[in-house]
Amino acid sequence: MLGIYAHVPFCVRRCAYCDFFTLPDASDGARSRLARSLVRDLELAARAGLQFREVDTLYFGGGTPSRLDPGEIGAVVESVRRLFEWRDPAEVTLEANPEDLRVAHLEALRAAGINRLSLGVQTLDGATLRALGRLHGEPEVHAAAHAAREAGFDNLNLDLICGLPGLERSKWVDQLGTLVDRHRPEHLSIYMLDMDKQTPLLGEVEAGRAQLPSEQEVLGAFEGSLKLLDTAGYEHYEISNFARPGYRSHHNLKYWLDEPFLGIGPSAWSYIEGRRWRRVADLEGYLKAIDAGRIPDDSIEPVDPDRRLAEAVIMGLRLRDGIDLEACGRAHGRDAWAVYGETVRRLEEQGWLEQVRGRLRLTDTALPVANSVWAEFL
Ligand code: SF4
Repeated sequence: MLGIYAHVPFCVRRCAYCDFFTLPDASDGARSRLARSLVRDLELAARAGLQFREVDTLYFGGGTPSRLDPGEIGAVVESVRRLFEWRDPAEVTLEANPEDLRVAHLEALRAAGINRLSLGVQTLDGATLRALGRLHGEPEVHAAAHAAREAGFDNLNLDLICGLPGLERSKWVDQLGTLVDRHRPEHLSIYMLDMDKQTPLLGEVEAGRAQLPSEQEVLGAFEGSLKLLDTAGYEHYEISNFARPGYRSHHNLKYWLDEPFLGIGPSAWSYIEGRRWRRVADLEGYLKAIDAGRIPDDSIEPVDPDRRLAEAVIMGLRLRDGIDLEACGRAHGRDAWAVYGETVRRLEEQGWLEQVRGRLRLTDTALPVANSVWAEFL
C-alpha cells in the first residue's frame, strides 16, 4: 500500500528551531496556485505509472497545510481518490497550528475528508513559545483541541518538542499531564530538539543568547513523559511516538516499516521500489515545471543496496516492537544476520539491543543513546 505525503510550504513566519522547506506567508494567489499544482502533480505521478496503486494514507504536512482553504484540501483528497485505488478506511492527516483553528474551519476540513488532525503544540510554556517565534500560547492550544473535538475529530495528535530552552522537568511533566487530562489525545509525538541542523536557534545558542537545558534535565523530562503516558494508557510504540490502542499513525508507520510513499509538493521525498527522489525545494521552480506538465524532481537516488538495508534496519529499530531482522534482510535480498550478526552481538553485550520473541529491539536504556546505536549499522 502506498502512502501519499503532500507538502504545503507556507507559514506565517519561521520558528527558531525549524529547518523545513517553508516560506514566510504567501499571498492567496500563491496558495491557490500551489493547491492546483498539487492536484496536477498527482495526475502527472499517476500517468507516470502509479495510477491505480493502492493508497491507504494521505498526509498533509508542512509548512502549515491548514493555511490552504478546506476546498483546496478537499480537491487534493478527491484527486487521490480518483487517480489511485483508495483503500478505506484510509487515514487522512492534516498538520495545523493552534492559532489557526476555529470550529467552522475544522468542520469544513472534516467535510473535505480529513479524519486525523495533528496540532503543532511544541510546549505549553508561553515564554518559550514567544522566544521561538510561535504564534500561539497555552490558551490557543486548549481552544484548538477543544474546537477539534467539537468539530468531530476523534483522532487527534499533539506534537511536542522536548529539550527546548527553558525546559524544567517538573513543569514539563505537569504540562504534559494537563494536555492528557484535558484533551485525551489519541496520539502524542514527543520529538527531541535537533540541534544538528542550521537553524536560527542554533545561532542564538552559539551566540550565548539562548541556553539549552542540561542533558540530565532533558532525560528526566523524557523519562517523566514515559511514566506519565504509560499510566495514562498510551502505548509507546516508536521512540518518539505514543498512541492509545488502535491509534498508531498508519502514515508514519510506512517510514518505519520501509514501505513505499509518494511525496508531492516542493521538497517532498518519495521512496518507491528502492528508488528515492525529491521534488525541487523551490516554490517557483516547482510551480513552473508543473504548469509545463513536467514532474520537477531534482534528486533521484538509486539507493545502494547495503545502505537501503542499513536504513531499513535503523528505521525498524525505532519501533518498540523492534524488527524481524531475518525478514528485513530477505526483503532486501540479503542475509541480514550475516551482515550485522557481529554488530548485534556487540550491542547486546553493551545492553543496547535485546531479542524478544524473535524480534530485535532497543533496550529501554538505549533509548536516550539511540543515535549511537544507529551509527553502528552505517
Ligand atoms: S510552523 Fe512548523 S513548519 Fe512552519 S516554521 Fe514553524 S516549525 Fe517550521
